[in-house]
Amino acid sequence: MDYHDVIVIGGGVAGASAAAEIAAHAKVLVLEAEDQPGYHSTGRSAAFFTTTYGNSASQALGRISEPFFRNPPEEFSESPLLHPRDQIVVANGDGLGRLEAMQQGIASDVTPISVSDAIGRVPVLNADEVAGAFLDRTGGELDAGAILGGYIKLLKQRGGVLVGNARVSALSYRDGLWTVTTERGDSYSSPTVINAAGAWADQVAKLAGLDPLGIKPLRRTAVLVPPSEGTEVADWPMVVHLSGELYFKPDAGMILVSPMDETEDVPGDVQADEYDVAVAVDRLINNTSVTVQNVPHKWAGFRCFASDRNPVVGYDPRSNGFFWLAGQGGFGVGTAPALAHLTCALVTGEKIPPVYDRVLHLTSALAPGRLLS
Ligand SMILES: Cc1cc2nc3c(=O)[nH]c(=O)nc-3n(C[C@H](O)[C@H](O)[C@H](O)COP(=O)(O)OP(=O)(O)OC[C@H]3O[C@@H](n4cnc5c(N)ncnc54)[C@H](O)[C@@H]3O)c2cc1C
Repeated sequence: MDYHDVIVIGGGVAGASAAAEIAAHAKVLVLEAEDQPGYHSTGRSAAFFTTTYGNSASQALGRISEPFFRNPPEEFSESPLLHPRDQIVVANGDGLGRLEAMQQGIASDVTPISVSDAIGRVPVLNADEVAGAFLDRTGGELDAGAILGGYIKLLKQRGGVLVGNARVSALSYRDGLWTVTTERGDSYSSPTVINAAGAWADQVAKLAGLDPLGIKPLRRTAVLVPPSEGTEVADWPMVVHLSGELYFKPDAGMILVSPMDETEDVPGDVQADEYDVAVAVDRLINNTSVTVQNVPHKWAGFRCFASDRNPVVGYDPRSNGFFWLAGQGGFGVGTAPALAHLTCALVTGEKIPPVYDRVLHLTSALAPGRLLS
């Protein structure tokens, strides 16, 4: 049987990044169910990065990851990983109190702006729906394809192996070794298995005989619509409505719109629901002067959350050598470098570069044991 020091289940950005870091110290194999890595959440992400997103854990992970995106290792990617783009958060009259509270929580990173400044930046905004706004200049758009591709290149340069069309269908543990078997019938052995299976993370745990941790796959929809004739969108910031019901941003000459839906669904090749697409278009029309004649592109993907919305990273205390790297929610691309280094440090015991040391402070907040009663 083919032996590896570490087997990673899942070739999305989480599995690929962790595998690449670990490959500097150990023999690593990544098993990916699809023929191409990144087919699921990673390939469907809006890939926006800001250090103000989500809860305190995701904000800290974003800050720790930021230097990697701004200065990746040499030859990691031929193009930049992060393209600066501002974000503005807007609220209507009902949301002004919450806007102020949110702003105070992240005050060092954002600047209040006037309604006319917000509309100056995004002239299509419906003035009746904007009573307040703040500007976030901490981030921009990540190139998820370049990040995933860079990590896979690094993995291979370091002697790691990625196998596609390799859906893990059985896991058994005996005498200090996991036997990992795929649907095709291939078997591999390793003392350590990393569960980076995204929406399937709980199902993979069940294969290992472990009760699930309750990581819920929540479907999110996105559509691309053309701007009205003559409207130049390239320099717009990303616009997020504080209501949690709409965001939109430029995307290659089009407007990417999401109704920010979170619908629990079954892991699989999830597709956009027509109702959610209609809601996305309706909310864009109500909040802007954009007219929508057609929706040339629509998709959906999973954002997966544990009950406290922190990622789940660490060994499962109920088992030997079964490591979780899951529950990255809506920030898995923007936090991948930090989580990859944390995983590497916990799995190999090796020192991580000093710039990533801070990630170790998050170990207990992310540990799977917190979710076991
Ligand atoms: C619409 C949308 C917008 C988003 N916007 C952002 C954003 O702006 N910024 C951001 O940072 N993040 C965003 N995200 C979230 C981000 O995409 C995810 O957090 C991230 O991609 C998760 O990566 P992953 O590797 O865990 O999951 P995935 O990319 O889904 O990878 C998991 C892999 O495991 C494989 N797998 C599953 N079961 C098995 C098995 N039994 N055997 C072998 N392989 C298996 C799957 O085939 C899959 O390829 C968004 C997500 C969506 C859907």
